[in-house]
Amino acid sequence: RFIALEGGEGAGKSTQARLLAEALRTRGLEVVVTREPGGTGGAEAIRSLLLEGCAGADGEKVGWMPRAEALLFAAARSDHVERLIRPALARGAWVVCDRFLDSSRAYQGGGGGLSDADIRTLHAIGSEGLLPDLTVLVEVAPEEAARRLALRDVDGTDLIGSRDAAYHARVATAFARFAEEAPERFARIDGNAGPEETHARIMAALDDLPSR
Ligand code: C5P
Repeated sequence: RFIALEGGEGAGKSTQARLLAEALRTRGLEVVVTREPGGTGGAEAIRSLLLEGCAGADGEKVGWMPRAEALLFAAARSDHVERLIRPALARGAWVVCDRFLDSSRAYQGGGGGLSDADIRTLHAIGSEGLLPDLTVLVEVAPEEAARRLALRDVDGTDLIGSRDAAYHARVATAFARFAEEAPERFARIDGNAGPEETHARIMAALDDLPSR
């Protein structure tokens, strides 16, 4: 089974990926926990390119243009899917992935303005359209996300570029729309409470999975 965790920055996805993997392992399952962008050598190399940005015309660091950014995410995902995710699924392991395709749809699409059809085409080319069995969308209020991000001692994980509150609001709206459009693939989880409570909600959604 392939489970993706999605949501904005500060939603607690990474913590939930870890708790979910631990819970599945106590059930005797082999679990591969991974993240996007990244997860393999090639994809982590592309992650560094994405996070660092590139030299602009004046030599100063600038963000990637939206289309190049989308292609880099699709290339990173391609490597990740071919080298790690598909082999793990093929041997019967569970894969828990911190972000997947829907982050591209929400960030490069909803936030960056690319069409959903283009992003899906890139995904069809790069990853043969692989979709998670379940996508857990962890939703938190913007103030709660900001509070958590302020507590992080490293804030260097944000992409270089001009991403303002309006961009992040478009991302959140896009995620919510995807969940409404594909309820069979999504579980929307309220992540405003503490990690244990959110984890319990995710486990309840997971235990519903066979009936989906
Ligand atoms: O999940 P994490 O915080 O590690 O993501 C690193 C950065 O990549 C964040 O700034 C996130 O917003 C960004 N990102 C993105 N588009 C994606 C996936 C992640 O802009 N498809």
